[in-house]
Order: sequence, then C-alpha cells, then structure tokens
Amino acid sequence: MRELGIATIGFGWMGQAHSRGFRRIPSIFPDRDANPRLVICADTVEQRRHEAVNGFGYEYATADWREVVERDDVDIVIVTSPNMLHVEMVEAAVANAKHVFCEKPVGGTPAQTVRAERAARNAGVISGVGYNYRWAPLVQYTKELIDSGQLGTITNYRGRFLSCYGNDPLGLLSWRFLVDQSGYGVSTDILSHSMDLAMFLIGGISEVVGFGETFIKERPLPQPGTGTHYDRGRPGDPTAAVTNEDWFGAMVRFQNGAVGTFETSRSMTGPESQNALEVYGTNGAVIWNFETMNQLQVYIAGEQKHTGFTNVYGGQRFPFHGNFVPGNANSIGFEDLVTIEDYAFLQAVAHGRAFEPGFDDAVRYVSVQQALLNSWESRRWEPVVSLRQD
Ligand code: NAD
Repeated sequence: MRELGIATIGFGWMGQAHSRGFRRIPSIFPDRDANPRLVICADTVEQRRHEAVNGFGYEYATADWREVVERDDVDIVIVTSPNMLHVEMVEAAVANAKHVFCEKPVGGTPAQTVRAERAARNAGVISGVGYNYRWAPLVQYTKELIDSGQLGTITNYRGRFLSCYGNDPLGLLSWRFLVDQSGYGVSTDILSHSMDLAMFLIGGISEVVGFGETFIKERPLPQPGTGTHYDRGRPGDPTAAVTNEDWFGAMVRFQNGAVGTFETSRSMTGPESQNALEVYGTNGAVIWNFETMNQLQVYIAGEQKHTGFTNVYGGQRFPFHGNFVPGNANSIGFEDLVTIEDYAFLQAVAHGRAFEPGFDDAVRYVSVQQALLNSWESRRWEPVVSLRQD
C-alpha cells in the first residue's frame, strides 16, 4: 500500500492527538488507500521532541519547523502550533508543495486565514482544517435528518460552546489568553467550532449582531515554554493582563432564512465542555451536546403517539462509529473524532481530491467572525461579506 509521509509542527495537545490518530488509522480503517508514516515532528520544547520519537514512533524530531516542510519524504504537514504561528507555517509548507492540515481556526486573525487559504489554493495542494466535531457520528446523522427533510423546514438553531477551561482566575496566562499569540479570544477559539457546526448543518450566514466580554482580566504568568490553559498558578504569583475575550454572544440570520443564536464562553462554572447544538424545524428537532456525545435527542412529528424527544444512543448504525467499537451504546470519544478526520484527510490526499472542511471553510467562518467583530464595534447588525481573495 502507498505510504504518505506525515510531519507535525507543534507537539502539544493537538499535535499528539493527531499523531495518535494517524498511528491508529491502519488498525481502525481497513478500507484505507494509504498508510501514514510518521516521519518528523517539530517542537521548540526538547522533552516533546523526545516523546515524539520515543513514545510515538516519529523517525526524526527537530526544533526548527522549517526543516520539516523542506523534506522530500514528507507529503502532509500537520500544523498544530499556537494560532498566530499558523500562517507562516502553512505558507512555507504549501510553497514546498505539501498538503496541509491545520488546526482551527487557521491563523489568529481573519486576515491570516485569508492569506493561508489563498496560498494553499494557488499552490494547488489539498487543505484541511480541524473542525473535528463535524465528524461525530451523531452530528453526521443530524445532517442526514436535515438534508432528507425529516425535520421539515429549519426555522431556528441554537449553538453554544460553554467551556470551563478558563474559569479559574489562577489558570495560567497561556498563549490562548493573549491577542499576539492566539489572535482573538473565544471568537477565534471555540466560537469557530460552534459556527462551523451551524454552517455545516444549516448553511451560510448572511448577517449577524454580537459582542464579546472579558471576565477575568489578569492571570498568573507561566514559566517560559510551559503551561497550558489547563494548568494553574499559585496565589501571589506575578500576573499580567488577559488581552482577548472570554465570552462572545451572537444572533444570526442564515442565507436560507433560518435564524440562530450563539453563546460561547471559556470561563463558565458549571458546563465543562458543552459544545452543543439545537436544530428546530417545522417537523422535528434535534439536540446534541458533546459532553454526552454518544446521545442524540430526536423528535420527529407524527412518528409516535407521544410528543417530545426520544433519546437515541450512538452505535455502529451511524457513520464511522462501528470502526471503533461494534454494537450500539458502546461509546466513542474526542480522539476518535480526530482519528476520523485524519483518516478522511489521508483518503483525500491518496485520491487527490478536495477535503471538507478545507481552508475555504475556514475563510467562511472568519468572514462571519469579521462581521461579528464589526458588530461589536458598531453595536449594530452587520452583513457577512466573503473575505476570500482571488
Ligand atoms: P499546545 O499549547 O498544547 O501545543 C502547542 C505546541 O506548539 C507546544 O508543544 C509548543 O511547544 C509548540 N510550539 C510553539 N511554538 C513553536 C514553534 N515555533 N515551532 C514548533 N513548535 C512550536 O496547544 P494546543 O492546545 O495543542 O493547540 C494547538 C492548535 O490546535 C491551536 O490552533 C488550537 O486552536 C487548536 N486546537 C484545536 C482543538 C480541537 O478540538 N480541534 C483543541 C485544542 C486546540
């Protein structure tokens, strides 16, 4: 079977998740058309390079990310570094004719996402973006229910991503809380996931109104090169200012006439990782929440005597689930979604076909994000204008 060489830049949470994803593909997807080969990993932290080679089986590791994009034995570059580093890495990779899978949102600002998309398109390579929640089997089934008309005409949508990762004022001031390393706050981070699900399921967004807020304005400084958004400082540690938003709320109109509301927060107490969606149509409704990702609440009018929701468990009857575990109500998890997207990207490259969601989907989101940022400033409804550049 053909081998495709993988290079990963940034070996933190998601670099490791994708590396495990690619490693697992041969044992999970017998119908694959290529085998991934973990060639080289780049990270500035020595311990992470050591792990990449000794724990994950990469052949090489380097501190210099430019080395990986220039190698002849690399076909696919996975970019899993902090957001503000994405665009330079993507541009260098595609200039060397590598296919690129970049974690969301692809760059830290809308302008950077637009640059990355244009570079990949002009280079003629295949691009992918890490909107992994789309691949959840029950989200895929939700799309089937919508597209087949079983929910009727979709009237309204509710999206939320309520996370606890920043709710402790002692949570370290890691790169996510800094405008010069992450770009914007939740509007760049978890709102992008929430909006991607909405645009995948319902379609494009035409106008928006929204605004953001920062609740925790100072955080303890991490030691240089360490500290993720899940790590804690101690009372009395030196602190510095948080420079992007904790919360963003929005109302939108979709191009097809449906309306929607969104709320995202990284500093909620209570919800833990509540990336949730509610779809309401004239004939039925669906509710899904990542915290209980193996359950879907479905109501289809006229299917039963009672009204109200039926609880549907995940299982092998839904897309991809059976690759991981047979039967029904045997659960899968977060990294399984990453493995599904890695497999789908590998297949796209093996067949030389476009991958969805690609960088054009990333631009679709940042076009909405830009309209939201405009609205935050103008305090008015704003139209969504495509930022894509020819
Ligand atoms: P992280 O902080 O855990 O890892 C980032 C890694 O990049 C670190 O190991 C760091 O040492 C390395 N790095 C920093 N500068 C570098 C450089 N110049 N060269 C090479 N390596 C460098 O971050 P993370 O949580 O894995 O986030 C990475 C990306 O993944 C972000 O874009 C984030 O938005 C995205 N993300 C996506 C999801 C998802 O569910 N799809 C979840 C978390 C993060």
